[in-house]
Amino acid sequence: MTEKLTVAVLGTGIMGAAMARNLARAGHDVRAWNRSRGKAEPLAAAGVRIADTPAAAVEGADAIVTVLYDGPAALEVMAQAAPALRPGVRWIQSTTAGIEGIAALAAFADEHGLVFFDAPVLGTKEPAEAGALTVLASGPNGDATANAVFDAVGAKTVWTGPDGADGSASRLKLVANSWVLALTHGIGEVLALAEGLHVDPQRFFELIDGGPLDAGYARIKGGLILEGRTDQASFGLDTAVKDARLIVEAARGAGVRLDLAEAGAERFRRAAAQGHGGEDMAASYYASFTQ
Ligand code: NAP
Repeated sequence: MTEKLTVAVLGTGIMGAAMARNLARAGHDVRAWNRSRGKAEPLAAAGVRIADTPAAAVEGADAIVTVLYDGPAALEVMAQAAPALRPGVRWIQSTTAGIEGIAALAAFADEHGLVFFDAPVLGTKEPAEAGALTVLASGPNGDATANAVFDAVGAKTVWTGPDGADGSASRLKLVANSWVLALTHGIGEVLALAEGLHVDPQRFFELIDGGPLDAGYARIKGGLILEGRTDQASFGLDTAVKDARLIVEAARGAGVRLDLAEAGAERFRRAAAQGHGGEDMAASYYASFTQ
């Protein structure tokens, strides 16, 4: 095992809770903080210490992992932690924050002398629980502390650049998420159309089975829809609303027109307005049954 580290995890939602558990399982001393304390408390059974404030969580930590809703939330929480931040601490920023969000967070790190890793993750609740995420990382490659954290939460680390402030990991994350969201809307519309045309959805899955049109992700999201399990969120629809916005804003900023992503963002907003915001993003399917 690598050296035992003290790691603060700020944000124990779907992803952060699983990451904190795996850090503790890897033998590290983990302190977790969450705005709604109740969500962090079950982690105590895994040996994680629950902190009352972000500052108490980061006090004396070797590394800080942020897994919050978006960039502004991460900035707000790190500002609360500021009195206890020490220069040289590794900040592994795994919130999907987008381009402007990551720039603001990198500036905060610079101001406080933190060693910043732009480290969004690919993979959802189940890979997070299995410690099998893919970490996209930019920052000082070869840093033993960061690598120990990445090894505990992920199966693979893909380095995109030597400086977290370059935002290269966040840019790759947005590109990857545009694919994830397109697949989710794609299968939602396929199943809505099948329903409308009285086609057995299983015939569609038989048609694509094992061929180049098949996609494991479409089968997972399709399964949630067909089995009426969209309430079992792996990737929350409200989170997808935010990610879709980040993709659309990034594309516009780059002068790139994304028709599908814009329509998809609207689809998520419609499903949220129907009351599906707290469900899995597969609930995009329901947006097909509104005007
Ligand atoms: P989640 O379960 O909804 O958790 C969101 C977390 O952010 C919660 O801890 C929430 O606290 C906290 N939060 C929100 N606004 C806050 C604020 N203003 N101040 C303090 N805390 C705040 O979401 P998640 O799925 O774990 O996602 C976390 C991050 O990982 C997001 O950036 C997401 O895009 C990214 N991500 C998610 C997945 C996935 O499949 N789920 C995959 C890759 C990346 P409360 O509990 O108090 O609400």
